[in-house]
Amino acid sequence: MNDRKKLLTVKNLKKYFPIKTGFLARNRTFLRAVDGVDLEIYEGETFGLVGESGSGKSTFGRTLLRLYEPTDGQVLFHQEEGETALTDLNIRQMRAFRKDLQIIFQDPYSSLNPRMTVGQLIAEGAVTHGYFKKGSAALWEYVLGVMRACGLQEHMLRRYPHQFSGGQRQRICIARALAVKPKFIVCDECVSALDVSIQSQILNLLSELKEREGLTYLFISHDLSVVRYISDRIAVMYLGKIVEMGDAEQIFENPRHPYTMALISAAPNIQAQSTEKILLEGQLPNPVSPPKGCPFHTRCFYAQEICQRVPAPVIEVENGHFCVCHFSLDSTEMKWKKARKE
Ligand code: SF4
Repeated sequence: MNDRKKLLTVKNLKKYFPIKTGFLARNRTFLRAVDGVDLEIYEGETFGLVGESGSGKSTFGRTLLRLYEPTDGQVLFHQEEGETALTDLNIRQMRAFRKDLQIIFQDPYSSLNPRMTVGQLIAEGAVTHGYFKKGSAALWEYVLGVMRACGLQEHMLRRYPHQFSGGQRQRICIARALAVKPKFIVCDECVSALDVSIQSQILNLLSELKEREGLTYLFISHDLSVVRYISDRIAVMYLGKIVEMGDAEQIFENPRHPYTMALISAAPNIQAQSTEKILLEGQLPNPVSPPKGCPFHTRCFYAQEICQRVPAPVIEVENGHFCVCHFSLDSTEMKWKKARKE
């Protein structure tokens, strides 16, 4: 993976949301939704991001695209002409990059304007970004081509979103994103609202389009089996921080972080190394006041005294496989034994 070209570099990205507390709401505390994320996404890969709901995955995806303004940190977008710090751009400058950086949301029901036809929805971005003149024959020819690529038939051009099923609406959302010729798409829980049989159709469509159009995805999901199916590399997020990252195979065959192990052991349809399920005790702690030391220590089956006091270091446990745990270098077998013992 190291000889591949970087498309995005994320450095210490943070997104804190202010919360007013106290008498007359004068005191301000912060919900740390994304709390210092560093990672790189390479051209042509599908980068999976997993974690429980509330772990900060969607906020990360939106902050990366500057749909939310970052509290701190940097996002670099690499192109042939050089790199651009997206986080340094003003709104007008950022607009020029919107066509390269698209997002597909979870809910295909609310993310489409109900007053616009399918054709208008798909054409809108292509006109806004100056690819075609509004109403031109070339535009409609282009829209029909994008629809065909996304498995939508020509007779659907003048229909409205409410006339479609959830799976077809998600195809419309994909077509709308694709029509502006993006380089990178954030797929934010984009199959979570769909039936399982439809999910695989949409995942296959995304994979086909990636190959054909040379796309790169950040694929955000709480569903490990979906992420395993589609991702080349995976990062695991807990309380706004990445706790483990590596190739999909490394993460699923040789998980080194207790949180990853617990998620895998609890996922249906994934054959974990242990037949025994590791129960994640308690709820996700409040991101307003995350635990000191390793933030996972309140739920970790392997937690030791040091974990309560000292933040865990990032350790490269094998080539390109990173784990944020004091005991990352313990053999996986030892950890699973410990889990079973307790
Ligand atoms: Fe568990 Fe300690 Fe590792 Fe955190 S540092 S994941 S608490 S063993």
